[in-house]
Amino acid sequence: MLLDLQLNDHLRLRKQHPCGSYEWTVTRLGADIGLECKGCGRRVMLTRRELAKRLKTNLTKHEEEQHGQQPNS
Ligand SMILES: [Zn+2]
Repeated sequence: MLLDLQLNDHLRLRKQHPCGSYEWTVTRLGADIGLECKGCGRRVMLTRRELAKRLKTNLTKHEEEQHGQQPNS
């Protein structure tokens, strides 16, 4: 499964963080994905594979998929 992620996306994971929050913000995109907990601000790195397993929902509404055209490229 491909992850459709962008920086600052707001994610809900399946498992609750010890601080009580399920929600995370994407802070880094690369081979690994950086996430920051919305509840306590803690940052973690997950591989795409791990995140795909833990992710429940991407709460960010992306614009309609862009067909071919990339702004700013
Ligand atoms: Zn937390």
